[in-house]
Amino acid sequence: MSHSHPTPAEIQNAIRNIPDFPKPGIQFKDITPVLADARLFSGVIDLLVQPFKPGSIDAVVGIDARGFIFAAAAAIKLKAGFVPVRKKGKLPYHTHEQDYALEYGSAAIAIHVDALKQGNRVLLVDDLLATGGTAAAAAALVKKLGAQIMEISFLSELSFLNGREKLKGHPIRSVVTY
Ligand code: AMP
Repeated sequence: MSHSHPTPAEIQNAIRNIPDFPKPGIQFKDITPVLADARLFSGVIDLLVQPFKPGSIDAVVGIDARGFIFAAAAAIKLKAGFVPVRKKGKLPYHTHEQDYALEYGSAAIAIHVDALKQGNRVLLVDDLLATGGTAAAAAALVKKLGAQIMEISFLSELSFLNGREKLKGHPIRSVVTY
């Protein structure tokens, strides 16, 4: 087994495609094989934090729930705090909420009102960029607290869904692109 850094192609090969999950027509990108492989997991985190030096980010904001896994590990690498953006109704303290559109209906996510300070430098992380609705809602919450988004980073991106259109004005990066 090689101990060199994994390439994005290797990471892409490890992401498992599950057709018709959780419903017909969805090609679900299962990242659990990446997490289970020590070399791939740490390599993904290295790639996610690559543009940033420790100390240059105040908080890594992760999106419920798979985003937490990558954001928390990235926060430790960057010597930054970790802040969760959760599905509405899960955070115990006072929150700001943001609605966003789903294919059918809508959903809402929330952040604690004191999770970030004015001017904080934030790296926003999720596992996958699809239509961009979730990340755009999370970005709106970060901005509501007066923090500054340095980059929005994803493990993977379904580029044919044009999610970047909803995230205009922010640097966007994904390790793997479909
Ligand atoms: P969207 O708001 O459309 O960009 O959807 C992004 C969110 O939904 C992320 O938090 C992903 O974890 C999840 N998601 C959407 N599509 C997929 C997919 N094909 N495979 C895995 N997760 C997905």
